[in-house]
Amino acid sequence: MQVPSRVLVTGAAGFIGSWVARALLEAGANVVGIDHLRPHYDPHFAKARLQELLGTPGFRFAEVDVSDAASLAAAAADDSFDGLIHLAARPGVRDSILRPDEYVRANVDGALNALRLAKEHGIPKFVLASTSSVYGHSAGAFREDATADRPLSPYAATKRAAELLAYSWHHLHGLDVTVLRYFTVYGPAGRPDMAPLRFVKWMREGQPVRIFGDGHQRRDFTFVEDIAAGTVAALRPLGFETINLGGDRPVEILDFLQRVEKLSGRSADIRHEPPAPGDVPATWADIDKARRLLGWEPRVDLDTGIARTVAWYDANRDWARDVIG
Ligand code: NAD
Repeated sequence: MQVPSRVLVTGAAGFIGSWVARALLEAGANVVGIDHLRPHYDPHFAKARLQELLGTPGFRFAEVDVSDAASLAAAAADDSFDGLIHLAARPGVRDSILRPDEYVRANVDGALNALRLAKEHGIPKFVLASTSSVYGHSAGAFREDATADRPLSPYAATKRAAELLAYSWHHLHGLDVTVLRYFTVYGPAGRPDMAPLRFVKWMREGQPVRIFGDGHQRRDFTFVEDIAAGTVAALRPLGFETINLGGDRPVEILDFLQRVEKLSGRSADIRHEPPAPGDVPATWADIDKARRLLGWEPRVDLDTGIARTVAWYDANRDWARDVIG
């Protein structure tokens, strides 16, 4: 597939956004990255990711809050784009229960403003980052045609709201939209509020490992490089489609931890905490549609992905050990 030559990426200093921006730059695209640089975790991560991108030719950055429509429009005013990838959002299930209004502002207002921008600037392609959380309590492999109308957290509800708004933009304005539902993404420079990087830090530092619930909840972990490749592939014209991007091999949280244990050469001192409200018991992506429409396949197996995450932690340990968990 030919990659569009100018792409606007919101949330570019975020975990997935920085990998997507890098994949686009490597494919020869010019990228304008937007982020308000106030992630819900330690800002060292955003700074480190952005620093790497700023050194790459073809990348420009604008510090903008996507929930502020005027600033977003101003940042894009003098440019033209053939794709917009909207990743900026406030993620996190547990935190959304405490601060639902911030999630509505970032995830619903932000998506609405990005959709408006696409229409007003004549950007032909819109890719929206969504989440497996919209499936709620579904059983078995999650298919894109499942109902998804019983979200278990404000986070899931706001991401589903953004999906529905995007459909209305497609219907009313003919915007070509692909909604991507990501399944538990992990990898180098990952989110310090998620289990994978926390497990790595706790194991490398010989600290107790905190697990919500019994650890038998299953997650379809997906390596971030695969997610970035699928996101770039989703820039092709498709009308309106919703597509899962997941690893297609769900494992228990305890199994993930055991793989980190093996690499660390020590056993985990596990402390169980009460199950987190709003967490889904299991996720598992049916990825037939991603294979069919995007020619996409997860390529990085779990042990390789974990080894690369551990290697990243070791290389960045000086600052990362103080700001994870
Ligand atoms: P992240 O927090 O690392 O990245 C999000 C980025 O968006 C951050 O840099 C943050 O500063 C920025 N941002 C937030 N609100 C903003 C605003 N109002 N204006 C401008 N920038 C703003 O999270 P991530 O894991 O990289 O997630 C990226 C996207 O993927 C999100 O839409 C998230 O909902 C979705 N997603 C992530 C996962 C996962 O496992 N990481 C799974 C499913 C879906």
